[in-house]
Amino acid sequence: MRIGRTLPPAAAPLQLADILSSSKVAMSKSFSEQSVREELKNYFDKKYCFFVSSGKAALCLTLQALQRLHPERDQVLIPAYTCYSVPSAIVRAGLAIVLCDIELSTLDYDYEQLQEKLANPRLLAVLSTHLFGLPAHTEKLRSLLQDPRVTIIEDAAQAMGAEWNGKKLGTIGDVGFFSLGRGKALTAINGGIILTDREKLGQELTKMVAILPCCTTRQVLQQLAYAITLLFLIRPVWYWIPSTLPFLRLGETIYDPEFPMHQMSTFQLGLLRNISKKIDRQRQARKKNIAFWGDMIGLRFSREHPSASDYPDLIRFPVLMEDAHLVNHIVKRSGEQGLGITKTYPYSINGITELTYNFAGEYYPQARQAARDMITLPVHAFINDNDRSKILSVLSRAGVQLTGSA
Ligand SMILES: *Cc1c(COP(=O)(O)O)cnc(C)c1O
Repeated sequence: MRIGRTLPPAAAPLQLADILSSSKVAMSKSFSEQSVREELKNYFDKKYCFFVSSGKAALCLTLQALQRLHPERDQVLIPAYTCYSVPSAIVRAGLAIVLCDIELSTLDYDYEQLQEKLANPRLLAVLSTHLFGLPAHTEKLRSLLQDPRVTIIEDAAQAMGAEWNGKKLGTIGDVGFFSLGRGKALTAINGGIILTDREKLGQELTKMVAILPCCTTRQVLQQLAYAITLLFLIRPVWYWIPSTLPFLRLGETIYDPEFPMHQMSTFQLGLLRNISKKIDRQRQARKKNIAFWGDMIGLRFSREHPSASDYPDLIRFPVLMEDAHLVNHIVKRSGEQGLGITKTYPYSINGITELTYNFAGEYYPQARQAARDMITLPVHAFINDNDRSKILSVLSRAGVQLTGSA
């Protein structure tokens, strides 16, 4: 057990001023939820914008709405290496998961394999996932997809506010969603946002979100308590406390289709006011660290780079290691020194115990390798020079080639 300065792997810091003003507006009668909705619709320039309890709930509702529009289709194509929330949402929606391997050079789909998997009359939707904030090639997916009845869902859970070629991620597919969880780009304790311009889908979702239960007073008070706790415990001086409490299951990725689904509370909506300012603040805070790791270690997974200093807006900086021994060694050293270096997902999706029987005989070697050999470095606002040099020293002692000079 470590006592002392400990970095979280990812953190979207909350501001006390925001918590206070959000709880104040949540209690006042004059606060108009509609104004926050309008603000977000304008910011993302989308006709429909929905606010629900999590990214999982956002994906699940989107899939349920799509299935009402295409009842003969019941399969969803996703990358074999992604967050466990994704299969949880698909199973919750009562649909079947189809996997496609990834490319280790991009962490995006293996597009050759994808092309074969797209020719499937039961396919309802394909996800395009911006993992860690790395922009996936959503336009390429669009060009390969011949059937207009298959919907492109952009999984921008980890990429809220990020852009690619002047377009906001999450607004490129037919429908996109974000997560407002604790370890994402921007947080409202938890929450999910769905964006679309599609008329029929938007109308279907309007009906479905309207009948979701509202947050109970108890849930709102829990959110407020959690926000105040997070305000302190997410900081490196305190983070060792929650990281020693196993029941919090911090940093663990769990497969669980039994998640709650409800609307977002007024308090949470309040935390999203002045969205563009908040997104910019977080992005600026990460930018320096992303460039530092990028210059020192190199970012392998970018599709193309206009210039070396123009790194994508990541929420964690992924580094693929040579083998699993190195990964375990580095993660252990990081744990001892509280450096926030972690593994990503324990297995590829076909390796999740509850799901393996669905994928008997299928093999996704790149996804498996990514799950086994990937580590991420923290890029959030709490990192200082000393943390950076400690992280570099752990990496270089483990044999990681450093390209830049610190
Ligand atoms: C976090 C995440 C989700 C789900 O978001 P929750 O709010 O945690 O339910 C979906 N997809 C990806 C890639 C994620 O990282």
